[in-house]
Amino acid sequence: MRQMSAPAAPLDDPALVEVLDYVRRHGPCTRAALVEATGLSRASVGQRIAALSTYGLLGEGELGRSTGGRAPRMLRFRGDAAHLLVADLGATSIDVAVADLSGALLAHIQEPADIAAGPVAILDRVDAAFRRCLAEAGPLDTELWGIGIGVPGPVEFDSGRPVAPPIMPGWDGFEVRRRFAHYGVPVWVDNDVNVMALGELTAGIGRGVESFVFVKLGTGIGAGTIVRGELHRGAQGSAGDIGHIQLPLTDRSVVCRCGNVGCLEALAGGAALARDAEAAAREGRSAFLQRLLEEKGSLDAADVASAAAHGDAASVALIADAGRFVGDVVAAIVNFFNPSLVVIGGGVAGAGDPLLASIREAIYRRSLPLATRNLIVHRSTLGDRAGVVGAATMVANEIFAPQYLAHWLDSGAPVASAS
Ligand SMILES: [Zn+2]
Repeated sequence: MRQMSAPAAPLDDPALVEVLDYVRRHGPCTRAALVEATGLSRASVGQRIAALSTYGLLGEGELGRSTGGRAPRMLRFRGDAAHLLVADLGATSIDVAVADLSGALLAHIQEPADIAAGPVAILDRVDAAFRRCLAEAGPLDTELWGIGIGVPGPVEFDSGRPVAPPIMPGWDGFEVRRRFAHYGVPVWVDNDVNVMALGELTAGIGRGVESFVFVKLGTGIGAGTIVRGELHRGAQGSAGDIGHIQLPLTDRSVVCRCGNVGCLEALAGGAALARDAEAAAREGRSAFLQRLLEEKGSLDAADVASAAAHGDAASVALIADAGRFVGDVVAAIVNFFNPSLVVIGGGVAGAGDPLLASIREAIYRRSLPLATRNLIVHRSTLGDRAGVVGAATMVANEIFAPQYLAHWLDSGAPVASAS
């Protein structure tokens, strides 16, 4: 973005952010819709639109529907005003992408990785993948405005540091931001489930939904909560960490990675499914899994899903149990929070309809009728793109936050020091 002439509205003007936010979150709209949504006068809205257009953040789009006279010109957010680098680190994979400010992916790379290899090795690979992604995206005529990273563990959002993450040895307190300081742009880090929830809110099934919960079923289990269209991180950023909720009356001999017994994650996470499937194979309870184990040497959650799809009774039972455990915990959340949508995502969600049916059944059985009257339980529609799309949304949300926007808007690009 080039340096522009003086803006028509002051930079610390809340109405400026309000107008930008509305168009960014709701998609193309008319001036009349903005006047109605913000409660500002037509002249005030016009002044903010002019300022934001000067900065290259709003542009004219298609013609809207005419209500009698001339068809109004739609305003659109210029997602293409800059680009972002985003990464979604899972326990067993890394997704890296170049995205625009609206979360559209310009290039996307996915590769297997073991998060336990530690922050130095993993973030070196992320940096290398960033460069490959930038090359793949082709020559970009926009500036890089920020970096967003999701990691599979609790993160103190203000500092961007992982805090005692159970499945990420060596990552506790690691300065993830500093590792990417050489890009000279602000870096934000959050828990992977939070960014996935933001992804669904921006471009998935959560679009336009005020209150929903995203439940990630991967190697671990976690939840991201959207309240009134905003991500709820909680006081320290650990909201939604449901993987270590203890289930009553379950097998006390199963010790979780966190050291406790009876945790949801230890019973229904991807690692738990793999462990139980291997036990079923070794104990002769499933010829199908036994054959698979002999071929592959180890089993994972995807193997259990494919075995269940082939009608293997032991695998069907494992998935039904996992779904019931997850559903029991999600029912408690539904009763407490009363969302209108529960999105099930993460690698284990690939187990498909039987898992979803089992989760749904447990939620409906254990929730209050009023809480489930209009409740929808649905699989993630973004699948493995949810994390990178959401990481881009996280960066855009921070760049355009009222307290931050005023710092950089006049200089033309967000600056690293203010993050
Ligand atoms: Zn635990």
